[in-house]
Amino acid sequence: MSSQTVHAHAESPESGGRLTPARRMVLDILLAAPNAMTHLEVETAARARGLRADRVTLYRALDWLVVRGLAHRIEGSDRVWRFNAVAGEDHGHAHFHCLRCGRVFCLDLPQPAAAQGLPPGFHCESTELTLHGTCDACGAA
Ligand SMILES: [Zn+2]
Ligand SMILES: [Zn+2]
Repeated sequence: MSSQTVHAHAESPESGGRLTPARRMVLDILLAAPNAMTHLEVETAARARGLRADRVTLYRALDWLVVRGLAHRIEGSDRVWRFNAVAGEDHGHAHFHCLRCGRVFCLDLPQPAAAQGLPPGFHCESTELTLHGTCDACGAA
Protein backbone atom coordinates (compact mmCIF):
# COMPACT_ATOMS: atom_id res chain seq x y z
CA MET A 1 0.00 0.00 0.00
CA SER A 2 1.31 3.41 -0.86
CA SER A 3 1.72 6.02 1.81
CA GLN A 4 -0.43 9.08 1.73
CA THR A 5 1.82 12.06 1.90
CA VAL A 6 0.97 15.53 3.08
CA HIS A 7 -0.89 17.32 0.38
CA ALA A 8 -1.75 20.94 -0.03
CA HIS A 9 -5.40 20.60 -0.81
CA ALA A 10 -7.55 23.61 -0.07
CA GLU A 11 -9.82 23.14 2.89
CA SER A 12 -13.41 23.25 1.85
CA PRO A 13 -15.45 26.09 3.36
CA GLU A 14 -17.75 23.80 5.31
CA SER A 15 -14.97 21.95 7.07
CA GLY A 16 -12.28 24.60 7.73
CA GLY A 17 -11.06 24.38 11.28
CA ARG A 18 -13.97 22.58 12.85
CA LEU A 19 -14.02 19.14 14.37
CA THR A 20 -16.45 17.59 11.88
CA PRO A 21 -18.23 14.30 12.65
CA ALA A 22 -15.70 12.39 10.53
CA ARG A 23 -12.73 14.01 12.29
CA ARG A 24 -14.37 13.45 15.67
CA MET A 25 -14.88 9.77 14.92
CA VAL A 26 -11.36 9.27 13.60
CA LEU A 27 -9.97 10.92 16.72
CA ASP A 28 -12.14 8.68 18.92
CA ILE A 29 -10.90 5.62 17.07
CA LEU A 30 -7.26 6.62 17.51
CA LEU A 31 -7.71 7.43 21.19
CA ALA A 32 -9.36 4.05 21.80
CA ALA A 33 -6.72 2.05 19.95
CA PRO A 34 -3.98 0.32 21.96
CA ASN A 35 -1.48 0.83 19.17
CA ALA A 36 -0.91 3.03 16.15
CA MET A 37 -3.19 2.31 13.20
CA THR A 38 -2.71 2.28 9.46
CA HIS A 39 -5.06 4.10 7.09
CA LEU A 40 -6.77 0.81 6.35
CA GLU A 41 -7.27 -0.06 10.00
CA VAL A 42 -8.78 3.36 10.69
CA GLU A 43 -11.06 2.96 7.69
CA THR A 44 -12.18 -0.49 8.82
CA ALA A 45 -12.88 0.77 12.35
CA ALA A 46 -14.82 3.75 11.00
CA ARG A 47 -16.95 1.46 8.84
CA ALA A 48 -17.64 -0.75 11.85
CA ARG A 49 -18.91 2.35 13.66
CA GLY A 50 -21.22 3.13 10.80
CA LEU A 51 -19.36 6.07 9.26
CA ARG A 52 -20.38 6.52 5.65
CA ALA A 53 -17.70 9.03 4.67
CA ASP A 54 -15.51 8.03 1.75
CA ARG A 55 -11.86 7.10 1.98
CA VAL A 56 -10.58 10.49 0.90
CA THR A 57 -12.58 12.17 3.66
CA LEU A 58 -11.13 9.76 6.21
CA TYR A 59 -7.57 10.29 5.00
CA ARG A 60 -8.04 14.05 5.08
CA ALA A 61 -9.47 13.76 8.58
CA LEU A 62 -6.27 11.94 9.63
CA ASP A 63 -4.10 14.60 8.02
CA TRP A 64 -6.14 17.33 9.68
CA LEU A 65 -5.70 15.73 13.12
CA VAL A 66 -1.94 15.53 12.54
CA VAL A 67 -1.72 19.15 11.40
CA ARG A 68 -3.72 20.25 14.45
CA GLY A 69 -1.48 18.24 16.78
CA LEU A 70 -4.32 15.97 17.91
CA ALA A 71 -2.68 12.90 16.39
CA HIS A 72 0.76 12.00 15.19
CA ARG A 73 2.14 9.94 12.40
CA ILE A 74 4.86 7.31 12.49
CA GLU A 75 6.54 5.84 9.44
CA GLY A 76 7.27 2.17 10.02
CA SER A 77 10.22 0.28 8.56
CA ASP A 78 7.69 -1.18 6.13
CA ARG A 79 7.16 2.39 4.84
CA VAL A 80 3.54 2.38 5.89
CA TRP A 81 2.28 5.38 7.83
CA ARG A 82 0.58 4.67 11.12
CA PHE A 83 -1.41 7.10 13.20
CA ASN A 84 -2.04 7.44 16.88
CA ALA A 85 -3.49 9.99 19.24
CA VAL A 86 -1.97 10.52 22.64
CA ALA A 87 -4.12 12.84 24.68
CA GLY A 88 -2.43 15.81 26.29
CA GLU A 89 1.06 14.97 25.14
CA ASP A 90 3.30 16.12 22.36
CA HIS A 91 4.82 13.58 20.00
CA GLY A 92 8.37 13.76 21.30
CA HIS A 93 8.24 10.16 22.47
CA ALA A 94 9.81 7.00 21.12
CA HIS A 95 7.95 4.18 19.39
CA PHE A 96 8.17 0.42 19.44
CA HIS A 97 7.66 -1.66 16.33
CA CYS A 98 6.92 -5.37 16.78
CA LEU A 99 8.70 -7.42 14.14
CA ARG A 100 6.24 -10.30 14.50
CA CYS A 101 2.78 -8.73 14.45
CA GLY A 102 3.82 -5.44 12.85
CA ARG A 103 2.05 -3.25 15.39
CA VAL A 104 3.55 0.09 16.40
CA PHE A 105 3.15 1.32 19.96
CA CYS A 106 3.73 4.75 21.45
CA LEU A 107 6.17 4.47 24.33
CA ASP A 108 5.90 6.55 27.43
CA LEU A 109 9.56 7.41 27.01
CA PRO A 110 11.11 10.61 25.71
CA GLN A 111 13.30 10.70 22.67
CA PRO A 112 17.01 10.16 23.51
CA ALA A 113 19.16 12.72 25.20
CA ALA A 114 21.25 12.97 22.04
CA ALA A 115 18.93 15.73 20.91
CA GLN A 116 19.83 17.78 23.96
CA GLY A 117 23.58 17.17 23.68
CA LEU A 118 24.11 18.78 20.31
CA PRO A 119 27.24 20.82 19.55
CA PRO A 120 26.94 24.62 19.65
CA GLY A 121 25.12 26.00 16.64
CA PHE A 122 23.12 22.82 16.00
CA HIS A 123 19.38 22.99 16.43
CA CYS A 124 17.22 19.89 16.47
CA GLU A 125 13.77 20.24 14.93
CA SER A 126 12.56 16.68 15.24
CA THR A 127 13.72 13.21 16.19
CA GLU A 128 12.38 9.86 15.18
CA LEU A 129 13.30 6.92 17.36
CA THR A 130 11.66 3.56 16.81
CA LEU A 131 12.74 0.46 18.69
CA HIS A 132 12.28 -2.88 16.94
CA GLY A 133 11.63 -6.20 18.63
CA THR A 134 8.74 -8.30 19.94
CA CYS A 135 5.77 -6.94 21.85
CA ASP A 136 4.39 -8.51 25.02
CA ALA A 137 1.72 -10.48 23.18
CA CYS A 138 4.16 -11.93 20.64
CA GLY A 139 6.96 -12.54 23.13
CA ALA A 140 4.68 -14.61 25.33
CA ALA A 141 3.50 -16.81 22.48
ZN1 LIG B 1 3.69 -8.26 18.39
ZN1 LIG C 1 3.44 7.90 19.29
